[in-house]
Amino acid sequence: MQYENNASFALELDKQDKLAQYRDKFFIPEVKGRQALYFTGNSLGLQPKSVKDHLNRELLDWAFYGVEGHFHAKNPWFHYHKFLTEASAKIVGAKPIEVVHMNGLTANIHFLFVSFYQPKGNRYKIIMEAKAFPSDQYAVESQVRFHGYDPADAIVEVAPRDGEHTIREEDIYAAIEKHKDEVALVFFGGVNYYTGQLFDMESITKAGHNAGAMVGFDLAHAAGNVKLDLHNWGADFAAWCSYKYLNSGPGGISGVFVHERHANSPDLPRFAGWWGYKEDTRFLMEKGYVPMEGAAGWQLSNAPVLSMAAHKASLEIFDEVGMDALNEKAEKLTGYLEFIVNDIASKHNANFEIITPKDPKNRGCQLSILMHGQGKELFDTLTEEGVIADWREPNVIRMAPVPLYNSFEDIYRFGHILEENITS
Ligand SMILES: *Cc1c(COP(=O)(O)O)cnc(C)c1O
Repeated sequence: MQYENNASFALELDKQDKLAQYRDKFFIPEVKGRQALYFTGNSLGLQPKSVKDHLNRELLDWAFYGVEGHFHAKNPWFHYHKFLTEASAKIVGAKPIEVVHMNGLTANIHFLFVSFYQPKGNRYKIIMEAKAFPSDQYAVESQVRFHGYDPADAIVEVAPRDGEHTIREEDIYAAIEKHKDEVALVFFGGVNYYTGQLFDMESITKAGHNAGAMVGFDLAHAAGNVKLDLHNWGADFAAWCSYKYLNSGPGGISGVFVHERHANSPDLPRFAGWWGYKEDTRFLMEKGYVPMEGAAGWQLSNAPVLSMAAHKASLEIFDEVGMDALNEKAEKLTGYLEFIVNDIASKHNANFEIITPKDPKNRGCQLSILMHGQGKELFDTLTEEGVIADWREPNVIRMAPVPLYNSFEDIYRFGHILEENITS
């Protein structure tokens, strides 16, 4: 598409946008009495206006029924987690039996590692991306120590080459090949939080399995952002949070995927709790853990209904729109942001470098811009002018135009503000 850096062009794209009406289904934060230019949906997605009604429903039923709400609420709490399953399964490309919602993301990484990181003999290494999100680094490091290994030896990180910002796919496969007799688990982000690089999860899964390893993904920056097909790709497990692209509120419930091939493996080691126990006999409260089939068998605690209600509200929007329509708009929107940043950089001789891959098939909504000379000061000015983006040390601005609520006009206006405040 041939983009132009002017207001009427942006407004025309908004007019043609089939998803434009969805912006009004979200609360847009304000700065100085004006709608902010909100580009941090990759950090905390905006609040769907429908969340309030979904929460109110549960508050009313709690007030009216007390404990009886577990079975008599309009959406019985005993089954509440099931109301989220189908829509989420579509988002991550899974069968419903492969998906459950529970806990927070980092907690779920640990619980899944209990089952899928089982070092034995020579096979104890974990291959992951360098500079993964810190919580993933800490989780992996502490898991490795927990099993008695030295992280410096047991964790193999695949890093960008010198002078490059993103990881070459071939280097991932080379690392797997090099450690093929020692690797127990390949664990990658679907989309790297810092660079926005989208990894080829299908090929990574294949390479990991060929080496005899388990393969899992952290989809925090991928779920609700890029097209996922976990079941067909064959990944063993995955987890994601619901508060980034999935717009379900701060600290929202996490989603978990466990491939169907593990659905009926009651002997797979796991840390158990009563909510994962077979539903029909759960309330006999007997000794001896018998897990539910599928991902549900990994649950521990009873469902946090209020957090799930917010997620349910948001999932209804995703279900209505579908990932295909979202991806189509996301590609145009991100492409427009890329065009605007490059256009301004070249007009003003500014040394902005977009470190996110250029090819749309290797990225989602996010662009990470290395600011070189112009750093924090410019970012702070943008913030004052109503641009909500994200600053990462030492010198990167991350921006995520989100197809559900960002407009082409948002991007044009951002460019205009950038241009006015740039020092060239
Ligand atoms: C956002 C994010 C997290 C956050 O973990 P929580 O347990 O939800 O606080 C973890 N990993 C990745 C890759 C993330 O992007």
